[in-house]
Amino acid sequence: MKILVVNAGSSSLKYQLIDMDSRDVIAKGLCERIGIEGSLLKYKGAGHSVEIQRNMKDHTDAIQMVLDALSDSEKGVLKSMDEIDAVGHRIVHGGEKFSKSVLITDEVIKTIEELTELAPLHNPANLMGIRACRAIMPNTPMVGVFDTAFHQTMPKEAFLYGLPYEAYTEHMIRRYGFHGTSHQYVSGRAVAMLNKPVEDTKIVTCHLGNGSSISAVKGGRSIDTSMGFTPLEGVPMGTRCGSMDPAIVTYLMDKLSMDTKGVNAYMNKKSGVLGLSGVSSDFRDVEGAAADGNERAEAALNCFAYNVKKYIGAYSAAMGGLDAIVFTAGIGENDRGVRKAVLTGLEYLGVDADFEYNENAPRGEEVEISRPNSKVKVFVIPTDEEMVIASDTLSLISK
Ligand code: ADP
Repeated sequence: MKILVVNAGSSSLKYQLIDMDSRDVIAKGLCERIGIEGSLLKYKGAGHSVEIQRNMKDHTDAIQMVLDALSDSEKGVLKSMDEIDAVGHRIVHGGEKFSKSVLITDEVIKTIEELTELAPLHNPANLMGIRACRAIMPNTPMVGVFDTAFHQTMPKEAFLYGLPYEAYTEHMIRRYGFHGTSHQYVSGRAVAMLNKPVEDTKIVTCHLGNGSSISAVKGGRSIDTSMGFTPLEGVPMGTRCGSMDPAIVTYLMDKLSMDTKGVNAYMNKKSGVLGLSGVSSDFRDVEGAAADGNERAEAALNCFAYNVKKYIGAYSAAMGGLDAIVFTAGIGENDRGVRKAVLTGLEYLGVDADFEYNENAPRGEEVEISRPNSKVKVFVIPTDEEMVIASDTLSLISK
């Protein structure tokens, strides 16, 4: 059984071909600059690594190039594209309509389209990926996997904002949460590592990457998460401001004569660790600068870690206890300094971190960085969103 996982952005498309019998990624890659001059296909498979520069006028061109590369007689991994049993699509926003992955039908496409209002940049791009695959592989079943779905179990008190109730009922304004497939995957792995019945587990998952979100996962279900109506809420991120006094928005617009577009760009692209440090959105650069004595860089890193720590405390209170903290994604998996800063001072919760092992633990594998007797376990678990998408796709097409 071979499943193609597609993550389509507005001008990019990431793909992985997964053999579900062995759970091996047999090929993967990326199309860049779709519809822009200088389009590029990157492909890795069968021991080959290829980059092809060719014009891709739209996502259909991009998918065709991907399928050609996968079934290339010399460097491909398939005899023909008929060997692809199904396609799993990542979709950013499922609103309240999708609390689980679904088989893609005309009806589902229509609903995703209706949800565009909630994710104006992402859902249309995801739909372009779906339409392109349907055009080229009309007989292959497709499944949609939503970033928001895992968080649909949040109770009302966690997803409501303190606005008039009509903001929710008439305008769909509520907390949705994102990175759901990642929180689902790593919390599931943590449950297995805790060796406890899932109903009894209380886990905080910290997905720390370019975008970061923290979730409270109680009994295997998300009960709260730091991203909200959009992926702008929560901790300060690479370039996003995270949570702040909402009055700052109108104040900024007045002070800097910005319109809604301007203030959106300011908060989404110029803020966070980049805006605070003035150095970069990449934590490696910011850490380098901090080590050289750059005070703004140091303040940015401290601000990030402090906010992650605050969520861990808040979510322990929300769940009435804590069994494990999980770090994942680019920063969570690799940045030992951030992990140390977040964990320092959490002893009162029952966290006994092994900071020496934290410095030396291997990367790219599941490790436990708490001491054996720590009441709260601390795990670093590489996330695998593609595997969740492929597994959901397999289980839906097998039904
Ligand atoms: P995305 O949200 O785009 O999926 P990732 O999860 O890949 O992001 O995280 C990317 C970020 O991870 C980079 O911007 C960088 O800040 C951080 N990162 C990656 N490797 C390291 C490392 N070795 N040390 C510190 N930070 C790292």
